[in-house]
Amino acid sequence: MTIAAWAAPKARSALEPFSYEAAPLEAGDVEIRISHCGICHSDLHLINNDWGSSRYPLVPGHEIVGTVARAGMAVTHLKPGQRVGVGWQRYSCGECEYCRRGEDNFCGRRQDTCVGHHGGFASAIVTPACQAFPIPEALDSAAAAPLLCAGITVFSPLKRHGVGPGTRVGVIGIGGLGHLGLQFAAKLGAEVTAISSSPDKEADARRLGASGFLDTSAAGAVQKARASLDFILSTVYVDLPWSDYLRMLRPNGKLCFVAAPPSGLGLSAGALISGQRTLVGSGIGGSAMIKEMLVFAAGHGVTARVETRPMAEVNGAVQRAARNQARYRMVLVNPA
Ligand code: NAP
Ligand code: ZN
Repeated sequence: MTIAAWAAPKARSALEPFSYEAAPLEAGDVEIRISHCGICHSDLHLINNDWGSSRYPLVPGHEIVGTVARAGMAVTHLKPGQRVGVGWQRYSCGECEYCRRGEDNFCGRRQDTCVGHHGGFASAIVTPACQAFPIPEALDSAAAAPLLCAGITVFSPLKRHGVGPGTRVGVIGIGGLGHLGLQFAAKLGAEVTAISSSPDKEADARRLGASGFLDTSAAGAVQKARASLDFILSTVYVDLPWSDYLRMLRPNGKLCFVAAPPSGLGLSAGALISGQRTLVGSGIGGSAMIKEMLVFAAGHGVTARVETRPMAEVNGAVQRAARNQARYRMVLVNPA
């Protein structure tokens, strides 16, 4: 089967039409006819080779929703016609200690959707069924696609670190990840502050569940907010004065990075020691958490706010995402 896709031929270039022959359907695979695919900032990092690991031609796209067209002989949990989603990770072995406890994001044999494989900016994908998840009926496909990467990446640390009633949460960066972080934290019962360099996002942030808005473009705003939060989730890929952000935490507070600032953290140990603060990181989430996140999102009305574009307009959509213009996730749509 020939798959029509969009690929970057080299680093930092526009995407071009690209077709390739899909691998034969193995017993554990599904072929998914893609209806929607979100544009995550990690796709932009991949296109630009920011992490030095990109191979070209590179088909990005790892917030995939579509319909199962064919299922391999060993696939028991999915059937043709079913609506499913695939995120950053495409494969886990199912046998190691991490896979057995649902933390398959730590599987030593893990494979990722658009690292060494062609991703979801395409008409279809052949991918292992073990990392394809049924989408709950209540969720619209365009609004559900970003949950597969952005959603799980913010939900997992909020859950694991016990965010809930009585917790004061700050979310840095109100983009694809951050706008879902505001919603999940608020629906988990926390008191939520949006921490943003874009004052024009305040009204939306409040609608998404924030009760506070900290405009970091205002001089001294971060310093004034000292010792006001218990858990800060950082979703920004830029360098910020991290010691000041650490000092925004109350005693025993945690600063959690899900995005990597390019120059590292450059932190003051004193800011960590005083107040007994903790620095943590988090990457996507295991399949048990992905299933829990989808059920939680459907049950609590957590959905991505999206701007949809036809797949053929991928380059304009990528530009909007790169310029921080998306409100709040660009989602590519294939013709029905
Ligand atoms: P995004 O939609 O582009 O949002 C990033 C946000 O960062 C922007 O909306 C903006 O928020 C803020 N920002 C941008 N430029 C800034 C600047 N110069 N100063 C301060 N803030 C700035 O990106 P995303 O898709 O949410 O992804 C965010 C990061 O998470 C990426 O680096 C991505 O690779 C990473 N990621 C990690 C994982 C994981 O598993 N750990 C998974 C997915 C993505 P404001 O306008 O509100 O300031
Ligand atoms: Zn992503």
